[in-house]
Amino acid sequence: MKNALVMALLALIFAAVPAQAQEDARWSIAIHGGAGTLDPDRMTPERRAAYEAALQNALDAGARVLADGGSAMDAVKAAIVPLEDEPLFNAGRGSVFTWEGDNELDASVMDGIDRSAGAVTGVKSIKNPILLADKVRTDSPHVFLMGTGAEEFAGEQGIETAPPEWFATERRRESLERMKARNLSSLDVDLKFGTVGAVALDQNGNLAAGTSTGGMTGKRWGRIGDAPVIGAGTYADNRACAVSATGWGEYFIRVGVAQEICTRMRLLRATNYLSLGTAPVAPEEEMATAQLAADAVMAEVKELGGDGGIILVTPEGHALYSFNTSGMYRGRANSEGLSEVAIFSGE
Ligand code: ASP
Repeated sequence: MKNALVMALLALIFAAVPAQAQEDARWSIAIHGGAGTLDPDRMTPERRAAYEAALQNALDAGARVLADGGSAMDAVKAAIVPLEDEPLFNAGRGSVFTWEGDNELDASVMDGIDRSAGAVTGVKSIKNPILLADKVRTDSPHVFLMGTGAEEFAGEQGIETAPPEWFATERRRESLERMKARNLSSLDVDLKFGTVGAVALDQNGNLAAGTSTGGMTGKRWGRIGDAPVIGAGTYADNRACAVSATGWGEYFIRVGVAQEICTRMRLLRATNYLSLGTAPVAPEEEMATAQLAADAVMAEVKELGGDGGIILVTPEGHALYSFNTSGMYRGRANSEGLSEVAIFSGE
């Protein structure tokens, strides 16, 4: 009888092991390729298919890293590099032009484990600025490097470069020319942003975020948007969330969007903890809490006159979006088998 009891107990314990292992193996990733005025009626099926294929390709690259047990930061970089190389998006190859006719690139990363961060702005010859941003994080005593100094550091670190022709595309040059000829704003010529970003939760429970962009068409005077500004375009904190933004950078800087969302999440989670006496917050509430925080901050951006969107992943693996434009190129995947890409709002 005693033996039977022990056996039953052991069986219970061992039966619990796979469930625990499965629980530990949870991972999640979300990506974006910019938000803006996207009209389904004005997008040809071919163009839509091209965007969806590029998003799926990037999502799969990041998801593979996470499924294999890689870090959230490696997954973020793995997802962003193909988006930088893809001319459809405004990052790396295919970046928008400055007023002077150059491509000046910005990127940033942040690791939620220790809130280490790296960022670069105004680089012109770095093939994948996201990789340089991470090098700044791991191999320099600094967080934020600009222009020629950042490129000098890249040279010392053996980061791959590319000639100006690599980044320049006809479509983006035409946007700049149209802007100048008709005295339009960068929003008029582009109607959308096109920055790329990724956020991830790895199997060890760590979060990371990254964002890369060419900025806004016709930018001048050394203008810097939110994408390389830690706290505005990118933020990650294991206690709260990881966020990557896209949109009208000036507003995202003023609101401090990415960090503001994480701070609100931290406070909401703490409040729930105090009132419910349990931690972390119940799973069904956790997702709502995150959406609440993200939507409230995006509403502030809108109120001030800005637009755009964010992607977010929580420590529990919920990946979600919040945007106040008619569309955002986006996708998400997780260890439960979800893998989806979408473009327009309501999809
Ligand atoms: N946020 C970027 C900037 O202001 C633009 C974008 O999202 O495409 O530079």
